[in-house]
Amino acid sequence: MSSYSAPLREIRFTLHDLLGVEPTFARLGFEDAGRETVDAILEEAARFCGTVLAPLNRVGDEHGVDFDRDSASVATAPGFKDAYVQFAEGGWGGLSASAEYGGMGMPHALGLPVEEMIDAANLAWGNFPLLSHGAQSALLHHGEQWQREVFLTRLVSAEWTGTMCLTEPHCGTDLGLLRTRAEPATDGSYAITGTKIFITAGEHDLTPNIVHLVLARLPDAPAGSKGISLFIVPKFKVARDGTVGERNALRCGAVEHKMGIHGSATCVMNFDGAQGYLVGEAHRGLAAMFTMMNSARIGVGMQGLGLSERAWQNALRYSRERLQSRALSGAKFPDRPADPIMVQPDVRRMLLTCKALIEGGRALGYHAGLQIDLAAHADSEAERKDADDLLGFLTPIVKACLTEWGIECTYHALQCYGGHGYIAEHGMEQLARDARITTLYEGTTGIQALDLMGRKTMQLQGAGLKVFLGMVQRFCEQQVGNAMLAEFIGPLMEKAQEWQALTIAIAKRAGGDPEEIGAAAYDYLFYSGYVVLAYWWARSVAAADASSHPQAFKDAKRETARFYYARLLPRTLAHRAAIESGTAPLLALDEAAFDA
Ligand SMILES: Cc1cc2nc3c(=O)[nH]c(=O)nc-3n(C[C@H](O)[C@H](O)[C@H](O)COP(=O)(O)OP(=O)(O)OC[C@H]3O[C@@H](n4cnc5c(N)ncnc54)[C@H](O)[C@@H]3O)c2cc1C
Repeated sequence: MSSYSAPLREIRFTLHDLLGVEPTFARLGFEDAGRETVDAILEEAARFCGTVLAPLNRVGDEHGVDFDRDSASVATAPGFKDAYVQFAEGGWGGLSASAEYGGMGMPHALGLPVEEMIDAANLAWGNFPLLSHGAQSALLHHGEQWQREVFLTRLVSAEWTGTMCLTEPHCGTDLGLLRTRAEPATDGSYAITGTKIFITAGEHDLTPNIVHLVLARLPDAPAGSKGISLFIVPKFKVARDGTVGERNALRCGAVEHKMGIHGSATCVMNFDGAQGYLVGEAHRGLAAMFTMMNSARIGVGMQGLGLSERAWQNALRYSRERLQSRALSGAKFPDRPADPIMVQPDVRRMLLTCKALIEGGRALGYHAGLQIDLAAHADSEAERKDADDLLGFLTPIVKACLTEWGIECTYHALQCYGGHGYIAEHGMEQLARDARITTLYEGTTGIQALDLMGRKTMQLQGAGLKVFLGMVQRFCEQQVGNAMLAEFIGPLMEKAQEWQALTIAIAKRAGGDPEEIGAAAYDYLFYSGYVVLAYWWARSVAAADASSHPQAFKDAKRETARFYYARLLPRTLAHRAAIESGTAPLLALDEAAFDA
């Protein structure tokens, strides 16, 4: 079985030494988020995840969920419910929710490391509370006051969980196709009818009620995505005064059998005139849902990161223990029957790739999370806008890169085990299977790429990119003359200039042919992700050097940064070449000729 121990030293390094969150939290008015409190929360989260959730990871995979067709009920794996009770009692559901609604009022930038730990410890379990965060932010920003008091408070306390009901059998990426209907009732509520599929935590036994946030069409709705509204549809009816009533007209019709996250309930949900309440304005549901999706997308990025971390920890330990062959230059451990596989350059390639993507990815993810706090609480309008632009720009990068790298890292980690990684005993194949979903739900990688290239870069005239490039430029200027960092600063400046030029070139080509956006999007997203990580690796070396960490830690940061610049940053060359090849290699072959 794979084990997990929260990487507290790395998490603290990223938050404190690299991002310097303590003064930022204080400036934003989080008076209770001083370093001692932050560290105490991280430690307690690490304990909960390591001792309560991690041991249930294998249980959930082997047991899955039980669906009883007659009662339409879902029983979670043994131990899941007890763990959820402890989660609720610990107040974890409301860690970064406003105190006004019963939360702890901590910054989002602190919520993300906790999510990372939960996902690493037990991704399938973590999916039950995950969407409650998204539901909380949709209700906070778009709900009426009574909806916040009645529903938001119970999501924050984790008394109930939330879902996101978007997908229908014929409607996945293209929500404009959705058919679920909402008929106004005389009492101001709506009757919701339709079928939603693939609904995470749509039914379960962890809480007495479930708050479904459902996208549906009103009778007078315009066609397409402009005619979608958002509704709260609880499993048990809830009156405006908060009183819980009878069972609502909705049922789980089936649970899916799937490749990974067996312990997570992925449900078909049938709504048959179920009572619901409109959230926000009619026909503006997609905007409200996007509030939910942005928070969930960064959350899914944390899933990729958490799984990578867990897989890497185990692969590292195994690679130190597994004795096979000798080093190419002669025995490194002559007293043993063979050298540990870790002496082999190829094994080190896999381990270092994981280390570089995980630690760099952690900085990328937490920094994006910090923008949520800055966008909401910074003093000046200009700083709030910059943070909002940056958050919008970084969200698809966090979601897509951390999850695709999650697949890469769990596969590298499995590979380090050889055939022992492929069999179930060591738990490595579970991590690889579990990671696979993360690039699909909450918008596939292709959709994140289009969001970054189309909406966040072209439509917004590169607003977020400009903020990020400004950060890179300021950092590089500060380091001019710093011989210790020179090996990173030169290449970083070159890449930043190339990134800008590449963006302008795509924009020009797209002016004449919109297909250019689709053709460039995937490679542009990864190109961007690798440059962002180059920035964080250069900054990590500087932050480690300036810190009080032991010399071995500083050396490890520098050598990993060197590995990153030498071995991973050059991936941008292939992405650039693909972008520059334009649409022709993708579109020249006639559709009908694919199998000619
Ligand atoms: C385990 C699991 C849990 C889920 N949980 C939820 C949930 O809680 N709530 C919910 O509402 N949904 C949920 N989903 C649904 C999930 O979000 C969708 O599966 C996903 O959005 C993709 O939709 P689709 O499967 O219909 O694929 P499609 O939309 O049919 O896409 C198929 C392929 O075509 C590509 N594609 C489609 N359109 C475009 C385009 N315009 N440009 C480029 N490429 C395109 C996609 O990238 C993808 O590769 C879940 C799914 C799974 C498997």
